[in-house]
Amino acid sequence: MGQAWGVANLDSTLITGIGELVTNDDGGFAARPDAALVIAGGRVAWTGPASWAPAADAVVDAGGRAVLPGFVDSHAHLIFAGERSAEFAARMAGRPYRAGGILVTVEATRAAPDAVLRANLRRLAVEMLGQGTTTFECKSGYGLTVPDEARGLALAAEVTPEVTYLGAHVVPPEFAADPAGYLDLVRGPMLAACAPHARWIDVFCEDGAFGADEAAAVLAAGRAAGLAARVHANQLGPGPGVQVAAQADAASADHCTFLTDADVDALASTPVVATLLPGAEFGCRQPFPDARRLLDAGVTVALATDCNPGSSFTSSMPFCIALAVREMRMTTEEAVWAATAGGAQALRRDDIGHLGVGARADLILLDAPSHAYLAYRPGVPLISAVWQAGRLVAGSSPSPPSLP
Ligand SMILES: [Zn+2]
Repeated sequence: MGQAWGVANLDSTLITGIGELVTNDDGGFAARPDAALVIAGGRVAWTGPASWAPAADAVVDAGGRAVLPGFVDSHAHLIFAGERSAEFAARMAGRPYRAGGILVTVEATRAAPDAVLRANLRRLAVEMLGQGTTTFECKSGYGLTVPDEARGLALAAEVTPEVTYLGAHVVPPEFAADPAGYLDLVRGPMLAACAPHARWIDVFCEDGAFGADEAAAVLAAGRAAGLAARVHANQLGPGPGVQVAAQADAASADHCTFLTDADVDALASTPVVATLLPGAEFGCRQPFPDARRLLDAGVTVALATDCNPGSSFTSSMPFCIALAVREMRMTTEEAVWAATAGGAQALRRDDIGHLGVGARADLILLDAPSHAYLAYRPGVPLISAVWQAGRLVAGSSPSPPSLP
């Protein structure tokens, strides 16, 4: 197997006895049995058969368990205050979801001091890490004033480099009579205040939010300010979002629940990743997106949580994987790839989402022998340890607890 680089000179850790090592190192899903992996300098330094593993400074015995790349959650709204469990309960009792529910969170977020927003954001970031998410994206969109959007993004930048400006989430109530005026604000002074904190710009392209021309204008302004595009597209019904994403060279079109054949063609013929968010369909009791149709057409599919207090208040990638396998006709391999390498592609990152030599050592030890258990045992906490850039950041020793 490959020569280990740097192992002799850096603090190294050998994880051996891996029952299934998911590497994703050949472009698609890839896994090997009876494997080992060496971490050095925060990176993957070696992978191969356990019997060929080089020596290292420390050794962890995985005891036949599976090791996977850390999950990459490429779509989350974590800058908010308050919660909307009553709205969820009402919706489950038969009231349909309306985009207007966002404004409840906008009001609470505007009223919250920085410390409250920061504490909520950090709590969710820790919650994600404990469930195996080693990289997450975070959007604004509940401030909708220049200072509230800018402070939200500054807080997000404290916990992730994948920060997204979503001033174009909905038109806030004070602009209800002047949506064009709000669009000018989003493309002008708000963008200027937010761009220094962000890498991405996003727009909610949907009836009741922003139309095709408005969305394209927002993304063009973002690009001029150095921000790359992502789009909330085709969530609540058919619409122009996917086409807007394709034309704007967006990294990702997110939701993709209601697609025409032309939309599928646009996704298949461009590098735009289709990011599916089954937590939203679960939380709104809506039909799930047809992942099988996208995969069969050659579209690159990612899975993400859409974690937000309204439509999808889950931070769990394993839950999304289970939904994708059960409800969206994805194989277990496809769903795990979409939640790791797919998410990385949706964020245009090549250092995460896989465990090839040189990748950042973001990895998960499952308390199970195979990745399939993520869907096979839904709702069971299977993430027993998490390493981020080579450091154990969640969970504990992989030795099995002994019974009394
Ligand atoms: Zn979203």
